[in-house]
Amino acid sequence: MTQPARYTVAVRALCEFTAKAGDLDLRFTPSPTAQEGIAGHGVVTARRDDDYQTEIALSGDFGPLHVRGRADGYDIRANRLEEIKTYRGDLKKMPDNQRALHWAQVKIYGHLLCQDQGLDKVRLALVYFDIGSQKETVLHEDHSAAGLQAYFEQQCGLFLQWAEQEMAHRAERDQQLKAMRFPYADFRPGQRQLAEAMYRASNRKVCLLAQAPTGIGKTVGSLFPMLKASAEHGVDKIFFLAAKTSGRQMALDAVDLIREGAPLLPLRTLELAAKSTACVNPDKACHGDSCPLAKGFYDRLPAARESALAIMAPSANGSAPPALDRDTLRAIALAHNVCPYYLSSEMARWSDIVIGDYNYYFDISAMLHSLTQLNDWKVNVLVDEAHNMVSRARKMYSADMEHDSLRLLRKIVPDELKKPLDRVHKQWNQLEKDQATEYQSYAELPDKFMGALQTASTAISDYMADHPGYVEPDLQSFYFNALMFARLAESFGDHALFDIEKAAGARASNSNSVLCIRNIVPAPYLKPRFESTHTTALFSATLSPWNYFGDMLGMPETTAWVDVESPFVAEQLSVQVAAHISTRYAHRQQSLRPIAELMGKQYAQQRGNYLAFFSSFDYMEKAANQFSELHPDVPVWRQSRRMDEAERAQFLERFTLDSEGIGFAVLGGSFGEGVDLPGARLIGAFVATLGLPQINPVNEQIRARMETIFGAGYDYTYTYPGMQKVVQAAGRVIRTQSDRGTVYLIDDRFGRPEIQELMPSWWRVERHSPLAINGSSENADA
Ligand code: SF4
Repeated sequence: MTQPARYTVAVRALCEFTAKAGDLDLRFTPSPTAQEGIAGHGVVTARRDDDYQTEIALSGDFGPLHVRGRADGYDIRANRLEEIKTYRGDLKKMPDNQRALHWAQVKIYGHLLCQDQGLDKVRLALVYFDIGSQKETVLHEDHSAAGLQAYFEQQCGLFLQWAEQEMAHRAERDQQLKAMRFPYADFRPGQRQLAEAMYRASNRKVCLLAQAPTGIGKTVGSLFPMLKASAEHGVDKIFFLAAKTSGRQMALDAVDLIREGAPLLPLRTLELAAKSTACVNPDKACHGDSCPLAKGFYDRLPAARESALAIMAPSANGSAPPALDRDTLRAIALAHNVCPYYLSSEMARWSDIVIGDYNYYFDISAMLHSLTQLNDWKVNVLVDEAHNMVSRARKMYSADMEHDSLRLLRKIVPDELKKPLDRVHKQWNQLEKDQATEYQSYAELPDKFMGALQTASTAISDYMADHPGYVEPDLQSFYFNALMFARLAESFGDHALFDIEKAAGARASNSNSVLCIRNIVPAPYLKPRFESTHTTALFSATLSPWNYFGDMLGMPETTAWVDVESPFVAEQLSVQVAAHISTRYAHRQQSLRPIAELMGKQYAQQRGNYLAFFSSFDYMEKAANQFSELHPDVPVWRQSRRMDEAERAQFLERFTLDSEGIGFAVLGGSFGEGVDLPGARLIGAFVATLGLPQINPVNEQIRARMETIFGAGYDYTYTYPGMQKVVQAAGRVIRTQSDRGTVYLIDDRFGRPEIQELMPSWWRVERHSPLAINGSSENADA
C-alpha cells in the first residue's frame, strides 16, 4: 500500500516562511561564531538544575505536514520550555521581526512539547545570552496547550498550500525525470563511463573523484545521471559548483539542452551570483533605513517568490521554460522591489538545481550548506574543474591582517575604539620585535595578541550595534578580518600555519607586517561537508594522483574513483620532451635562445596558432622578445598583467581558424585552463616550465608540514600542483576527436619517469632531438 504523501518541514524553516515580516535587517549581525554559540548554550544549560533536559527532539503533524525540530531546553520543575539565543551588542537593537520569529519558534515547540508530554499549559521563555558579558536576559510568557495548538494549526495552515504545491512539483518532477531521455542520440566516448560512475556513486551514497578528459561532454555527462539519480534515490537538490563563470554558464547550457528534450519537465534551476555582483545599491547597507530594497523585504517576498517559481514552470506551448539565471532573477526582484541577492538566497530553498561558485557550499559560513543542515536536505553536489578545489579551499579557511591597515584605522576610529585597537597594536609591535627574521612560522597562536584582537572585535561589534548607520569600510573590513581570525583560531591545528611576514628592510620600530592564519590542508573542514551530502562528485581532467586529492580534500574512505578513458588517441598529439633545455631559474637566461629557436623551427614546419607557457611574466617577456628578434615575421600576442574579461576575450579572439601566430602566456594564468580553441584555432603548445611553485619561506614551511603529515613534502608542495598546471595547459591543444597537434615540454625534468607518470596515459611522450632543430644543447642538465 502506498503511503500518503508527507511534507517534512523543520520548525525554523516553517516559522521563517510564515512568521517573517517587515524589513530585511542585517544590523544585528554578524552573530556569534558557531563555536561561541555552542559554548553559550553550554553555559546557559550548565546553570540549570540536574534534571534540566536539553536538545529535546519533538515533532507533530498537521494534515500532510510533518513538523520536526529540537527544542533547546526544558526545566521540568518549572515547566518552562526555553529557546536559547546567543548574541553580541545591545539586545534592544534586535529588530522586532527577529524577536517575533523567535517567539514563533518557541510557540511551535511549546505545542509539540505539550502534545508529547500531555501538558495542559507551559511557560515559554526566550533566553538571550550575551556572549560578551555572559549575562542572560529572559523573556517569558505563559501559554495554554489549547492556545498553542491553535497557533500551531494557524502557522501550518499558512504553509499548507505552499507545501501541497511543493509536493505536487516534486512528484511530477520525479516522474518526468524517470522518463527523461539522454539529450543526444548516443553518449560520446567516455561520457557513458562518467555518467555511470556518477549514477553508481549516488546509488551507493558515496563520494566520487572522476578524472575525465576534455571533450567528452562532462557537464551533461554529470548532470544527466545526477538528475536521474535524484528521482531514484530521493535526492532533494543538486548543487552544481564551479570555479569560474564559464563553468556556471556551461551548467546552465547543459540544463537548457536537457530540458529541450523534456519540455514538460518541471525543473527549477537557479544561478547564484556573488553579493557584490547582485547588489543593486552598493553604496547602501542591508537594512530598511538605508536600502529601499531591504525595506519591507519580507512583506513583498511572497509575491516575488511566486513570480520566480512561475517563470520556471513548464509552459502550455511546450517550450522549455528558462532557468532563473542572474539576469532573470534580477528582473523579477526589481519588479517586486526586493533585493536580488536575498531573493536568490530564498529561491535556493525552492530550486531543484542550484548553480554557483564553490564557496556557496564549502566555505566557512556557506549558505547552501547551512540550508542543507537546517532543512535536512538530501543533496548531490557536483564539483566542476575540481583540481581547483585545493587552492580555493585553502583560501576559504585562511585569513590575513596587515599592520599598516591597523595603523591607519587607529587614526580614524571614534574614541571608544582607540583603546582596544591600541592594545592590538601594542601586542603586534611586540610580535614584530620578538621576530628576528623577515618571515617566521609559529606552531602556536600568540595568546596575548589573540586576546587583544578578541577584545577589539567585541568593542567594534558593540559599537556597530550602538551606531547602526554608516560604518567606515576600513573599520568593517578590519572587523571581518578579526572575526575570521577568531573563527580560524578556534580550529587551529596541523592543517594550518600561523606566520608573520615583515616588510623587507623595514625598521623594527615602524615596520609593516602581515599576520596570517594559513590553511594548507583543507581536509578537516571539507570532510564534514562531503559527509553531509548524499553524494559529492568531483570531476576534472587532472585529478591525479588520487592520494594527493584524497588527502588534501579529506575525501571519505568510501570514496569511489574513476579514471575515464580518453576519447583521444596518441596519434592525435605529438608530445616532445625538449630535454636539452633547462628552465631552472639559474639557467633561464641561457634557455631563451634555444627555446626561441625550437619554437621558430616548429612554426616553420607547421604554421598555425600556438600557445607558449612560461613560469612568470618576466620569463615570458624575455622569451617573447628573443623570439621576435629571431623571427620578426611571426605574429606574437602577449598576455599582460591584470587583463580584464574583455581583454582576455580579445586575446583569445585572435586565435581563429585562419590566423597564424604564437600567444605568449603565463602557466597557471588565464589561458592555462578553461580555454577552448578547437581545430585550427590551436595546433600546438610549448610549455617551458614544470609549473613548480616558487621556492620561498612559505612554500618551504608547507613542504615541511606536508612531509610531517603525509611523508611527501616535495611532491605535495611542488611537483603535483606544478604538473597539474602543465597538463591543463597542454590540454588546450586537443579538444575534439578530429584535432591534431603538437606539444613541446621544454625542460630536461620532463624526461624523468616519475614526472611522466603524472601525464595522461594516452600521451605517447617522445624525446625531442635538438640536432633535428639546431644542435643547441648547452643548457642540458647533467
Ligand atoms: S540591494 Fe544591496 S544594499 Fe540593498 S539589501 Fe540588497 S545587497 Fe543589501
